Amino acid sequence: MKTVKMKSDVTTSRLGFGCMRFPTKNGKIDRELSTKMLQYAYDHGLTHFDTAYPYHGGESESFMGEFLKKLNRKDFTLSTKLPVWKVEKYEDFEKYLDEQLQKLQVDYFDFYLLHALNKKTWKKIVENDVFKFIEEAKEKGKIRYMGFSFHDDKETFQEIAKSYEWDFCLLQINYIDFWKQQGEEGYQLMTDRNIPIWVMEPLKGGRLTTLADDIMDEFKTVNPEDSSAKWAFRWVHTLPGVKLILSGMSTLNQVKENVEIFGDIEPLNKEELNTVDKVRDLINNRVKVACTACNYCMPCPNQVEIPKNFKIYNDAYMFNNMEILNHMYKQVLKVEEKAENCIECGECLDKCPQNLDIPSLLHEVTEHVKA
Ligand code: SF4
Ligand code: SF4
Repeated sequence: MKTVKMKSDVTTSRLGFGCMRFPTKNGKIDRELSTKMLQYAYDHGLTHFDTAYPYHGGESESFMGEFLKKLNRKDFTLSTKLPVWKVEKYEDFEKYLDEQLQKLQVDYFDFYLLHALNKKTWKKIVENDVFKFIEEAKEKGKIRYMGFSFHDDKETFQEIAKSYEWDFCLLQINYIDFWKQQGEEGYQLMTDRNIPIWVMEPLKGGRLTTLADDIMDEFKTVNPEDSSAKWAFRWVHTLPGVKLILSGMSTLNQVKENVEIFGDIEPLNKEELNTVDKVRDLINNRVKVACTACNYCMPCPNQVEIPKNFKIYNDAYMFNNMEILNHMYKQVLKVEEKAENCIECGECLDKCPQNLDIPSLLHEVTEHVKA
């Protein structure tokens, strides 16, 4: 497994194990299978594990504590994330940090992150003196390096990025989403400041592994043997500012495939980068509904989440995966938000700058969801 120097005194494997998508059994982590997956990864050189307070309803941290206690603390690096949305007062920072140290059965975290920062949570934790907490936690030896993960707009990212001497940051980057959220500018800002970037969702939650056959043919013409996952990992690996790439693996086969890819991973050459550009265009051309998620049509008097329904429908087509449509429609949308609640009152029609026939498109969504 390729490794990377994260800081002068810390080296990690290039691939990190994201601990949010373990296989489950009866609603709980399938500990036997998940342990096998972790052990396989570790035995093949993966030495970084990344979890967070809410993963698997809180079970991920305690499960990882049980697994990691069998290893020598100096032989792996560990990151977890503070649930910033739960912080109401200064004392809460250390309360959650201590609870996490206890659950993970370690004395310190190599890397600690403020989890999923956005405009609202950022304002709240700054008011609660987050910088003082970080300095104190570092002095006490509970945290070695401090970073943040992020889900909001470019302006908020710039504000957060410039507010502190961060040791690293975790961003959602893949060859489809690179220009969203913090965008390429955010990536460049951190790279210019020499702040290591970690990547989450390099495979876009698995969506980049189920491409349609005609799109896969573009990849196969150049590298007949390589999987769509390998292309996606190599694209991220090619970005010079990226240090660690996290992948939330859910099967032993995924672990085996990813470990093999990272054994000899190389950056994409010019021809390969052009191929990814072509593939990106082909994926984007599969969009079924030209909704820009501007939200002008909202709120719907009948509570239908119009843009969310269209996003789910588009994702299913772009990534050739009807399972996504069924899963997201049935499990993620609330009952009242589903397309089937549209009563065709027509109130949204004049509000859409894309002139979409919203009621009939919502009807189309419902027709594609399996009964
Ligand atoms: S037509 Fe349907 S989606 Fe549009 S406002 Fe009426 S109920 Fe809502
Ligand atoms: S107004 Fe049109 S483009 Fe905007 S979110 Fe609604 S459906 Fe999408």
